[in-house]
Amino acid sequence: MGRFGRFRAARRALIVPRVPQAPLVICRACGVVAPERRDGCEACGRPLRETRVAAPAMPLEQHWAAVRCGFVCNSCRFLAPLDALDFDGAVECAHCGLRQRFDVETWQGALELARSVSDLAGPSPEGRSPHLEIWVGDDNPHREVGVSQTFVKSELGMLVLSAAPGHPVCRRCTEPLHAQVTRRGVVDTRCPRCNETGSYALPAEAMRSEQLLGAVADPHRTDCPKALFTQQGGLATLSCPQCNAPLTPTPGSALQRCRFCNTSSIVTESHLHRALQRTVEPSTFWVLFPRGSAAREQLQTAAGTGIQEQSVGVLKSTRRPVGDEHTVYEAPEVEGPPALQILVGSVVGSVALLVGLVLARVFGLFD
Ligand SMILES: [Zn+2]
Ligand SMILES: [Zn+2]
Ligand SMILES: [Zn+2]
Ligand SMILES: [Zn+2]
Repeated sequence: MGRFGRFRAARRALIVPRVPQAPLVICRACGVVAPERRDGCEACGRPLRETRVAAPAMPLEQHWAAVRCGFVCNSCRFLAPLDALDFDGAVECAHCGLRQRFDVETWQGALELARSVSDLAGPSPEGRSPHLEIWVGDDNPHREVGVSQTFVKSELGMLVLSAAPGHPVCRRCTEPLHAQVTRRGVVDTRCPRCNETGSYALPAEAMRSEQLLGAVADPHRTDCPKALFTQQGGLATLSCPQCNAPLTPTPGSALQRCRFCNTSSIVTESHLHRALQRTVEPSTFWVLFPRGSAAREQLQTAAGTGIQEQSVGVLKSTRRPVGDEHTVYEAPEVEGPPALQILVGSVVGSVALLVGLVLARVFGLFD
């Protein structure tokens, strides 16, 4: 690290949290934040007094957001789930099977919102990494998240999004996963109980976004082949990618083992529900963001400008306009050298010298 690098690091160190960060409290059954003042988990419905658990610590620079996405189908008008960062420009409706155009630009706003929720959520009124001097707690729109609120919901174009703080959990053992970024855009996970590992890579198009560190969602898994999914009419079938035999999926894990060739393959939650003919609802997936957010910067800029305006106001009010006082007046200031004083001074001086010379002559001092 060069001298400037060190300097910058030192400056950055100044804006690390004032207070040690309290661990994020999540529902261990689903991984979504467990708000202090709620009894039941809004995401999975379990009683929070049984499922509240501290999420494992992540590096200070990284925040998870639990995200649920769906889109309103152009054909059947149902809300169809979107279980990953789908960046290929088209999405398929889980209800009617219609594949339709999806503007990937929509993700920009959606991810920005999810990032600001994970950054600004309570219980601390300033969110997770407050500025040393600028207080944003009064105007923070997400301060109730983690206190009385779970998700922040929004509609962006055809995308319907809910975002909350959280931490990915093992679906089988409902245990928070050990998760770490191992390469750019790649997150590796391990369940501390059943030891199942997973590796997830961002789609290439999502890698371009500076604000994404990684995502944990079944369709992004790269350590296993994906099960083949076909839908004809109302009938959805899953088959083994190795031997093509039909899979008889069991719920509870993304990994399904083929009875014939023993190959494990990934079945996304949405495909699983369709194969089991269940109602398909958006499932939760996880997006890892770097610390901070555009929303926090806006709050800080607004608060910072407020401080400046305030101090200018104080200055103005302490300075009284000249003339209000009855006895004291300030002399008007004149710019440049005092020409009149110099002129008068030299004229008086010359006259005195002249008078002196005349007197000397009169009294014959030089004789
Ligand atoms: Zn839950
Ligand atoms: Zn549809
Ligand atoms: Zn497990
Ligand atoms: Zn097989």
